[in-house]
Amino acid sequence: MQNGISRRRALAALAGAAGIARGAQADWAKIAAEALGYLRGYLRIDTSNPPGNVAPAVAYVAAILEKNGIPSERLEAAPGKVSLLARLRGSGAKRPLLLLSHTDTVPADRSRWPQNPFGGEIRLNRLWGRGAVDMKSTGIVHLMTLLLLKRNRAALAREVILAATADEEVGGQAGVGYLLEKHPAKVEAEYVLDEGGFSANRLFTEDGVVHGVSVAQKQVLWLRLTMEGTAGHGSQPTPDNAVAALARALARVSAAEAPAAADPVRRLMENRLGALAQNRFASAIQRNTVSLTTLRAGVGEPPKENVIPSLAAASLDCRLLPSQSSEEFIAWVRQVAAEPRLKVEVTHHAPAAPPSSTATELFRRIESTLAQHAPRDRVTPYLTPFGTDGNQFRRPDRHVYGFFPVVISAEEAMSMHSDAERIPVEPLQKGLQIFYEVVEGICA
Ligand SMILES: [Zn+2]
Repeated sequence: MQNGISRRRALAALAGAAGIARGAQADWAKIAAEALGYLRGYLRIDTSNPPGNVAPAVAYVAAILEKNGIPSERLEAAPGKVSLLARLRGSGAKRPLLLLSHTDTVPADRSRWPQNPFGGEIRLNRLWGRGAVDMKSTGIVHLMTLLLLKRNRAALAREVILAATADEEVGGQAGVGYLLEKHPAKVEAEYVLDEGGFSANRLFTEDGVVHGVSVAQKQVLWLRLTMEGTAGHGSQPTPDNAVAALARALARVSAAEAPAAADPVRRLMENRLGALAQNRFASAIQRNTVSLTTLRAGVGEPPKENVIPSLAAASLDCRLLPSQSSEEFIAWVRQVAAEPRLKVEVTHHAPAAPPSSTATELFRRIESTLAQHAPRDRVTPYLTPFGTDGNQFRRPDRHVYGFFPVVISAEEAMSMHSDAERIPVEPLQKGLQIFYEVVEGICA
């Protein structure tokens, strides 16, 4: 926490620098309460994907925009797969800024949750729900930023585009993929602010708050592993049992340490932060990883106990550092599995795009705004260990950053996709203010 004097000085500096005093003088507690109300309503709309029907969520966001005098546009790739675009026009002096969020979430198993995942409930100063971290909270910060720019009548040098898209959790084909293919001019921008960034305590390092601004992502590589063997009666074991052979191969792959690869973003992080933490999030930033995620065998449904199946299959979710060759990685999987009959197929590969530069007006604005509000915290560019829609936008002249300056704990950051996804309520206010000031700073 900052003391009152440095806080006031920071706000005065900001107001002076931007030439707009309204943002600095705003009642942020009231604004945060408004945003929290929107977020609770947003979390109550079940947008689990599959099936990924986000039309009600898009209608919800559109209604808030409309009430605030901002028109929006619905772009529907398929039934229920609707993306929303809204824009505040700029003078055209600078190229647009795109605020990108997805409206769908992964599904939630209600029976495993401590709270209703679609209740928008606040318990223990945390807001619980599927999408609380990934990424409805970011979506509402984007929405609130647009509303504030409008209310403050900010004179914009660049257009600000809000995109709330469908389908991210299943690859983005009917969301960002559709927008980029069918309506690229509508989402063309110099900068994209997306998910994937975290401002968190003890997430990146063993202690302290670090604001990780994502500038790159790991590659996503999904492999399907299959074994064939002789089918027969369970009473008469076969020497080439497909289930047994696959299990042995998977055990060897799971136990092996994936090969290391040099990574320039990781080097940048270590230069700024020193040694990184060894929790599962920070570990994933530092190396190639493999998770065994599905395993299927058996004949019939439910599978029959007394039938030796002729086929067994599994999938591996591999996440590779940007510089890792996927062919070499697959060769490593084959070698470690040490099972000549194992068939390895690529079911999905999203290669890495070159990292976005940190020598930009937006990155510098993020750093200076954080320095004013939280001088003791550290800021670093970083490599998101998972894939997001933003990667599809990355181009040498289009800079994409994962940035969400609401400070959360390492546990809360890692609660995304879990049975206890939650976000702390109190830091929302400061995070929202920082986000707004960054956007106003580079657009006004
Ligand atoms: Zn997400």
